[in-house]
Amino acid sequence: MTVGSSPHEELMKDQIYLTLAFCSLLPFALSRHTFAQTCVSTISQTEGPYYRTPNPETTEMRIGTDAPALTMRGRVVDQNCNPLPWTWVAIWHADLTGAYDNTAPFDRYRATFFTDANGEFAFHTIVCGLYPGRTRHIHWKVDGANTAVLTTQTYFPNVPQNATDGLYNAALLMQETILPDGTHDDFFQFVVPTSGACTGATITANPAPLSVNPGETAVFTANGAGSTPRTYRWYRDGVEIANGARFAGAYTASLTITNVQASDAGAYTCRSGNSCGSQLSTAAALDVLGACPADFDGNGVVDAADLSTMLGEWGGCKSCNADLDANGQVDAADLSMLLAAWGVCD
Ligand code: FE
Repeated sequence: MTVGSSPHEELMKDQIYLTLAFCSLLPFALSRHTFAQTCVSTISQTEGPYYRTPNPETTEMRIGTDAPALTMRGRVVDQNCNPLPWTWVAIWHADLTGAYDNTAPFDRYRATFFTDANGEFAFHTIVCGLYPGRTRHIHWKVDGANTAVLTTQTYFPNVPQNATDGLYNAALLMQETILPDGTHDDFFQFVVPTSGACTGATITANPAPLSVNPGETAVFTANGAGSTPRTYRWYRDGVEIANGARFAGAYTASLTITNVQASDAGAYTCRSGNSCGSQLSTAAALDVLGACPADFDGNGVVDAADLSTMLGEWGGCKSCNADLDANGQVDAADLSMLLAAWGVCD
């Protein structure tokens, strides 16, 4: 008889091994979809001495090819497990040596961002080093439009120092998957109770259409209202815009596009959002001059008026405005080009 191993215990071991085997086949599912069935408020922890403002709004904190890379995913919900969209989140953590960036502009491994329309977020950073006397941890602030600010820390599994860190709390342990290439994929769900009055975000001023020459700068501006924290998101033809070499202010009320290219033409919209609601602006066309030959009337969009012009010239070449391919007659090939530019101006 094996000491300390009853049939019941053997059965439990089998179940555990089966569960582990199953989970090992589904690393992403484990990190993405293992949500608590009941939503108990996330406990708060000390802010510590190194929180700084302002921090850049970004979800990309890796610098060059620093490693080990960490993709950190999360979700913010209320006490009823309902996701909280457009909720403000701030994070800060140590670098590989365990040191915090405490010199201006305070933006190394520090960031703010908002959850998406589903209350979820993801950002890229590194697995931080060990700050003296502490186990490996990430600092957080989470703030919805009708929540109190949650300040807390989360912890990595399987770190020996978890056993000796007085602040460590297993309730703040992240779910972690380490991929074959060494990349860490971690997940944590924050529960922040909602209370009190809250006004969903609305658009109070829509962006205006713009016509610019290639190479010029275009600035779209919107305005929103509603409880804060509140964010803005810009979209071109329904696709969210990220800040980059030519795009700035993608998360603010004012989107700036420098060195405008013909491919930038399109319909621009802005969504103002907070955790109690959001509103999308009306669309504003960006007309890149000289880049939209089918926009015969120059109103910034290829529409029925332009089709009417084409049909009026059909078969002949009266003024040749509609002879888009310059073959001497207005025909099906020209119609095809017009329809390809329909509704936008690219
Ligand atoms: Fe810390």
